[in-house]
Amino acid sequence: MYFKDCIGQEEIKRRLIESAQSGIVPHAQLFCEKEGAGAFPLAFAYARYLNCAHRSDTDACGQCPSCKMFDVMAHPDLHFVFPIVAKKEKKKEVCDDYLPEWREFLQQHIYFNLDDWLNAMDAGNSQALIYAKESDQILKKVSLRIYEAEYRILLIWLPEKMHQVCANKLLKIIEEPPEHTVILMVSCEPDAILGTILSRAQRLNIRPVPAPEMAAAMQERFHLTKEDAMQVAHLSEGNYLKAVEAISTGEENAFFLEQFIGMMRNSWTRNVKAMKAMADTLASIGRERQKNFLSYCQRLVRENFVYRFQAPELNYMNREEAGFSVKFSPFVNERNVFDLMDELAVAERHITQNVNAKMVFFDLSLRMTVLLKR
Ligand SMILES: [Zn+2]
Repeated sequence: MYFKDCIGQEEIKRRLIESAQSGIVPHAQLFCEKEGAGAFPLAFAYARYLNCAHRSDTDACGQCPSCKMFDVMAHPDLHFVFPIVAKKEKKKEVCDDYLPEWREFLQQHIYFNLDDWLNAMDAGNSQALIYAKESDQILKKVSLRIYEAEYRILLIWLPEKMHQVCANKLLKIIEEPPEHTVILMVSCEPDAILGTILSRAQRLNIRPVPAPEMAAAMQERFHLTKEDAMQVAHLSEGNYLKAVEAISTGEENAFFLEQFIGMMRNSWTRNVKAMKAMADTLASIGRERQKNFLSYCQRLVRENFVYRFQAPELNYMNREEAGFSVKFSPFVNERNVFDLMDELAVAERHITQNVNAKMVFFDLSLRMTVLLKR
């Protein structure tokens, strides 16, 4: 993680770079964000930059011994504290016991949230915490001799998950910081942090990524078209994780639309052979997606009914869906809209009840042939 990996946030980057260059480095800093704005990668990039031997005006060099050790998340003067799920039987009780998993996780993720980390830890639905036991570890880490770095860094991810005992110990360290030690905290819920810690840390608010910058990053990283990237950026509300999620929903959406168009065409033309083939296809995609598809169909029927009223502010369709509606909306009217919705809802219920999917979709197509002619 370098500054260049963090989308936008030029203002914050400039402040951090200036702090390193001037040598005015507050010993306790709190990076706050809602989620997916880049607080963790920014804090990490800053830690790297502080210790880089050949930093430029914009980023760390990536070549010096310090950068090389940061690349593998294994610098002797870089210490991590993060929430874990303690597993006594596996002797995993403090952060350092999870270091191999944590390092691998950071190699694979630049933007992430607690759920991603829980998955990587194989923690299921357990609560992740920074336990009381961690406080001795923290104390030990900051009292070690500094190996070679200019700054010893304690990078604490989600201090709001800290046990009271541990938080009190941390407060002591912040009040009487050991020399050359910088404590960087990254929080999504600053209000849940001990007030006395909050008041002693310099706070940096990381704002959501603005849409144009998010769109540019989406175009570059995922090769989206300009229009798609802009749409994804708007849906994301400045949260990188949401943007990535929106891309995959986009692909699924396109597949569903294609199926929906096919189904309506088959029913309108009474093409029984094609109806059978489509039922086979849909039977093969799995129950969860079948249910999603059927609720998608209900949404589209509703949108096409609304489309007739020419009130764009009531319509929620993407460009492809809207294009299809020009031709399809005349077929959805007062005489059939409620029955169409009912049929789709019944099919969805049958899928939930494990009725044979081929039969459900074939039957649905047959019923549509009648309803569309109304
Ligand atoms: Zn370097």
